[in-house]
Amino acid sequence: MMPFSELVLASHNAGKLKELQAMLGDAVRVRSVAEFSTVEPEETGLSFVENAILKARNAARLSGLPALADDSGLAVDALGGAPGIYSARYADGQGDAANNAKLLDVLREVPDAERGAQFVCALALVRHADDPLPIICEGLWHGRILHAARGEHGFGYDPLFWVPECDCSSAELPAAQKNQLSHRARAMALLKQRLGI
Ligand code: IMP
Repeated sequence: MMPFSELVLASHNAGKLKELQAMLGDAVRVRSVAEFSTVEPEETGLSFVENAILKARNAARLSGLPALADDSGLAVDALGGAPGIYSARYADGQGDAANNAKLLDVLREVPDAERGAQFVCALALVRHADDPLPIICEGLWHGRILHAARGEHGFGYDPLFWVPECDCSSAELPAAQKNQLSHRARAMALLKQRLGI
């Protein structure tokens, strides 16, 4: 049984919002934190989980509603897990294309066998801003970093992320298929289980 009928999503990222809304389905009315504030909180945590909790609390405080936050990113093995929690600002805030160009450049000399990577997603759900017991669910999606971009779907690093089980990049997957396989899908499946929806 869903414990509430309305939820605020603590994200300004249009790509993520679309995916999270599609995954939550009709079980709950979803609103964006952008309705309540255009200012995003500083992500001062050192882990995906810390940042997800921080964003969820902020959204709950602004909206007065239960809040769900996603903190996600790409962890590349050859880079010791970078860009990790800094994925969105890897190229100093210049956006997805610059992030992807930087990643390709940094990995220029790295052979295929060492290009393993995972998308990581931490979801945090708080019932109110000071909730002492946030629900936390994590999901990982294993793949490999390509040598050049492929595909037009998705967002962020999707064009560079090779999905071995599908023999294509995650930007070549139709949205519905990505939403069944991705790190976010895995974390969301766990969250839905926890909530009984
Ligand atoms: P956040 O908004 O601080 O959690 O940053 C997430 C960043 O990680 C995004 O801006 C993307 O660069 C990357 N990212 C997270 N999930 C995905 C995904 O599903 N596909 C591609 N890139 C992603």
